Amino acid sequence: MPSLVAEIRAGLRTIFKSERGEPVLFPGSGTGAWEASIVNTLNPGERVLSFENGHFARLYAEAARKLGMGVDEVKLRWGDAVTESDVEANLGPDHRAVLIIHNETSTGVTTDVGAVRRAIDRTGFDPLLLVDVVSALGSIDFRMDEWRVDVALTGTQKGLMLPPGGAVLCVGPRALDAAETNRTPRYFYDWRPVIRDMQQGFFPYTPPTLLLFGLREAIRMLLEEGLDNVFARHARLAQATREAVRAWGLKMLAGDVARASNSLTAVVVDAIDSGAVVKVAADRLNLALGVGLGQLRGRVFRIGHLGSLNELEVLATLAGTELALRYAGQPIELGVGVAAAERFLAACE
Ligand code: PLP
Repeated sequence: MPSLVAEIRAGLRTIFKSERGEPVLFPGSGTGAWEASIVNTLNPGERVLSFENGHFARLYAEAARKLGMGVDEVKLRWGDAVTESDVEANLGPDHRAVLIIHNETSTGVTTDVGAVRRAIDRTGFDPLLLVDVVSALGSIDFRMDEWRVDVALTGTQKGLMLPPGGAVLCVGPRALDAAETNRTPRYFYDWRPVIRDMQQGFFPYTPPTLLLFGLREAIRMLLEEGLDNVFARHARLAQATREAVRAWGLKMLAGDVARASNSLTAVVVDAIDSGAVVKVAADRLNLALGVGLGQLRGRVFRIGHLGSLNELEVLATLAGTELALRYAGQPIELGVGVAAAERFLAACE
């Protein structure tokens, strides 16, 4: 166990791009990681700033509120990224933390966390920066130390390519300090005993051992390919997907194409119910697309393109998606999406 945990800790540090951060693993999921990030760093009643630009941003803020924090939630269009001016216009001296979703999985939009950090610095205030990297880590470049992120959190089931069941965090020095003095009641999600034991190669609870072996392998896969190559592959497969969407004559939800996510694409359909596309794709083709979440229900479906994935798998997914669109009654010409994606991929080095 100690050598397994040591390799995982070192590997996670490389993937989070953090030399000083402490990796933490709880049995749980991204939602549990949200809770851990809040109860360890904030005192009851402290104010946090969040930006509602999608379903998961809304839920992270809700978690903070239900755990007793005061949440100032800035409403944005679902489909927009959080911008520097959003941060500068809304951050105040009372905010003890800023909550950011690096990649909003409900809308397929990536926020530039480095720009958020620069905007925070310009205000002169010094809140903790808590970043959800659930659908970014291992797929989209994330730099914990460079961007001075205090807590970054994810689950095992996305870019780490594992089954669900693990909440994974990386905790920076300021958040470690905050946890020492903070008064919010916590037991299971108290990260202090976990960090202490993980440093010795153990856990204070029964660990999900199969996930640990899987995590070691996932880390090896990512590092063997090289993080830059992993990010470039995601960018390429995402662009191929976007070319297909354009060829279908459909729109992406992402307001600014430069902020469109490299881990998934959210597609808007007006003429038909997006849920019908997802259902027919599952029922007739055994293809898993994502439904529209929250206010996007019925209007948006999502194509995932993250993790261990290659050109052929994306082309097959696009072929299945255009067939499902046709089955669901969307008037599109079959084959145009796949052809556009292929043309783009053929032109890549
Ligand atoms: N944050 C983001 C960005 C997500 O995409 C998800 C789930 O998809 C969560 C948090 C919640 O994670 P979980 O479903 O693992 O609890």
